[in-house]
Amino acid sequence: MSAYNGKYSEELIKNAKYIATPGKGILAADESTGTIGKRLASINVENVEANRQALRQLLFTAPGALPYLSGVILFEETLYQKTTSGKPFVDVLLDGGVLPGIKVDKGTVEIAGTNGETTTQGLDGLAARCQQYYKAGARFAKWRAVLKIGPTEPTELAIQQNAHGLARYAIICQENGLVPIVEPEILTDGSHDIQKCAAVTERVLAAVYKALNDHHVLLEGSLLKPNMVTSGSDCPKKATPEEVADYTVRALLRTVPAAVPGIMFLSGGQSEEEASVNLNAMNKLDVLKPWTLSFSFGRALQQSTLKTWKGKEENVKAAQEAFLTRCKANSDATLGKYAGGNAGGLASESLHVKGYKY
Ligand code: 13P
Repeated sequence: MSAYNGKYSEELIKNAKYIATPGKGILAADESTGTIGKRLASINVENVEANRQALRQLLFTAPGALPYLSGVILFEETLYQKTTSGKPFVDVLLDGGVLPGIKVDKGTVEIAGTNGETTTQGLDGLAARCQQYYKAGARFAKWRAVLKIGPTEPTELAIQQNAHGLARYAIICQENGLVPIVEPEILTDGSHDIQKCAAVTERVLAAVYKALNDHHVLLEGSLLKPNMVTSGSDCPKKATPEEVADYTVRALLRTVPAAVPGIMFLSGGQSEEEASVNLNAMNKLDVLKPWTLSFSFGRALQQSTLKTWKGKEENVKAAQEAFLTRCKANSDATLGKYAGGNAGGLASESLHVKGYKY
């Protein structure tokens, strides 16, 4: 049997390719209600719908920012929200040349008998939800699988469960018109060195692409969202951007088929500046790369914006400028042209949280 070839094939290929346009990337603004609550709490803002809407409106209407983006991932609530002047967010994005995406997983649960390893929930009823989201304007989806590095982790069980879950999710999305972003995130938690992270990343990605092939996923109509290969958060020796670039690109070259149009990294707790500099270093590498290397950052696109905004109307303009600065930095980084160094204190703050839940 060959890859998915049905009603949506052409559209999936077109949209995946568009999202992977060099110079553009994805804003991950799909924090669940619980997660956005933690972000809002960090600036003393109450987690109510009006405040969640205000933050998302600030981001989506930031002057000059949308040309640096090809996609925005939304949480279900946001997919149906409007600006205060009554324009649906979906139309704001589409008019700005940005495809709306939707988080479709339902979070993680522990796998029995493991040392805290998890599998991701959300396959039940997924096809019906994808159909609704497509009708509402979504054209791509995200599903986050989480793996961790430990003395005996990730176990083969966790790798296989998560690869299988990602593959089922991906093909269900494609059958219903949504480009699947395949996200096997290997957490940075731990004292391991960068070599260990590289070895685990290669093992996980090899299993994921085997599963995607087994499940007939149309790779040309999909995107990968991996972690960058870095040293562990508690490793005494922090890898340089050049090391991160070398190890990450090598791991990807060994495991990700050239049929995949784009690899859109998560930021995984790196500071805004670190994430941009690492992405830039990868794009500067003088090796043949068959896919676009771009961003799908959540924390590393929003942190300085959030801290500048503080929930106050009078700070919206400055917060939007902070957001534009990060969008432009990451756009430049997809082209290997980010000069760096223009980050203020806020952009250099580490955003790492142990066992991060999205
Ligand atoms: P971070 O960039 O904050 O790691 O998150 C991106 C994301 O969407 C994780 O699923």
